[in-house]
Amino acid sequence: MNVREYENWIDGAWATTARKVERKSPAHGELLARFAQSDENAVNAAIEAARKAFDSRSVWSAIPGADRAKALGRWVDLLTREIDRVALIEAEEVGKPVRFAKAEVEWSIELARYAAALAWQIPGDLVSNIGDANLGLVTREPRGVIGMITPWNFPLVTLFQKLPFALAAGCTVVIKPSELTSGSTLEIARLAKEAGIPDGVINVVTGSGRTVGEMLTGHQKVDMISFTGSTAVGIRIAQRAAEQVKRVGLELGGKAANIVFADADIDAALDGILLGYVLNQGEECVQGTRLLVEDSVADTFLDKLVERSRKIRLGLPTDEKADVGALIHEKHMEQVLSYIQSGIDEGATLLLGGSRVTDNGLGRGFYIAPTIFSDVTPDMTIFREEIFGPVLAVTRFNSVDQAIALANDTNYGLGNGVWTKDIDKAIRVSRELRSGTVYVNTFLETAVQLPFGGFKESGIGRENGLDGLLEFTEVKSTFIKLGQRPHALPHTVAN
Ligand code: NDP
Repeated sequence: MNVREYENWIDGAWATTARKVERKSPAHGELLARFAQSDENAVNAAIEAARKAFDSRSVWSAIPGADRAKALGRWVDLLTREIDRVALIEAEEVGKPVRFAKAEVEWSIELARYAAALAWQIPGDLVSNIGDANLGLVTREPRGVIGMITPWNFPLVTLFQKLPFALAAGCTVVIKPSELTSGSTLEIARLAKEAGIPDGVINVVTGSGRTVGEMLTGHQKVDMISFTGSTAVGIRIAQRAAEQVKRVGLELGGKAANIVFADADIDAALDGILLGYVLNQGEECVQGTRLLVEDSVADTFLDKLVERSRKIRLGLPTDEKADVGALIHEKHMEQVLSYIQSGIDEGATLLLGGSRVTDNGLGRGFYIAPTIFSDVTPDMTIFREEIFGPVLAVTRFNSVDQAIALANDTNYGLGNGVWTKDIDKAIRVSRELRSGTVYVNTFLETAVQLPFGGFKESGIGRENGLDGLLEFTEVKSTFIKLGQRPHALPHTVAN
């Protein structure tokens, strides 16, 4: 197997670093890549390059939006050319099946095409009803240098919910991807140069969060941190950023519930619940990890769900038929297994799975079987905590009010699903759910125009949609006096 060797990407070129960190496959243990373990000098150099590119206005931040849009369009074309290669890197480093990685790259491309189009028309306001002698302008300017810290579960999608929007707004960036999955981020930075995006606009420094991430967050020359990851690290970033009144965008954890009413299209709901809890091995912030099912249909629904879950195929990243891959690393697998044990210890009923899978050539990987618990109550750990594995917690309900209360009984608020054919019920429930996204009669399906983000501990700010671009802008008010300005203190000019 060819080991991919990477350096940092700073100011439009590879920048050599002495120390390296290795990434081995979580699916079969082979060495995949070596990334730079960045030090303070590397982080400073990347921030200086981004600062210089931003402050020299004619490079990127103050050029016509149309020119930025065209450059982003060329970049997207190059990424489209390289879909298969980038998808394979993504699949291997994360441990996920390659067909899902490919869909992820395609979705990233769609996000970037949309963001590029937004660069043509960044909104502003003209205030013209303040008298003939006055004119007000409300303009949006790029925020500046953005530090982007991204996780390992969807390295490219989590990045593309930020990067093209920030670039469209005119910002420059320093990215710190997860040290486990930095390959695709470095690849797209290289492609940006080929597309003619100027040097210094996109910089990538790899290494650990405790060193590189902390340096980015605390650096005076970084204007905003845009982060996706755990709520614990999000809180830490917000605290440190507050010391400098630095802006933050935080896309954090979740504990989504799918509510299935008795009048739902049961087959469609089964499909959505199944995908919702196993997609990306369950390593997903908006994973449908809780199923709330109306008591009158619960028994038959669960029988069918278990039956369909048994047919889910686990496999290596290159296995085109695999539905579910390996978890990201051994420690994380152990953590998911300990959550499963807590479900058993706290009295939930294990209907399916519950253990590591080592047969069919998967013995060197970190695989866990799709796992379903029923009789889960709100006081149980598996109802409350983000597990980030293919584990579903099922709770029954008897009324609409009870379903809403159960769904909202969480510190998180990223996404929820509602399944019913009754339109009044669907609208009422979706209004009362406290989450940034609600899926009705589908799950994990969305459009680039729709903002994404969390209520409560699931985050601050929004990604995607027009809101996703506006997050990377500052609002400026300009008051213009026309004609002769009357003296404020006339007696001071009298002879
Ligand atoms: P983290 O939140 O630790 O990692 C996310 C990113 O933040 C990584 O690039 C990481 O770097 C970086 N980071 C870590 N510590 C700091 C810091 N002090 N300052 C700045 N950046 C930092 O997630 P984990 O990988 O530890 O996963 C733990 C749990 O978090 C998961 O089990 C899951 O519950 C949740 N999670 C949620 C995600 C989401 O999409 N909302 C995504 C990933 C995880 P590095 O890892 O390279 O050291």
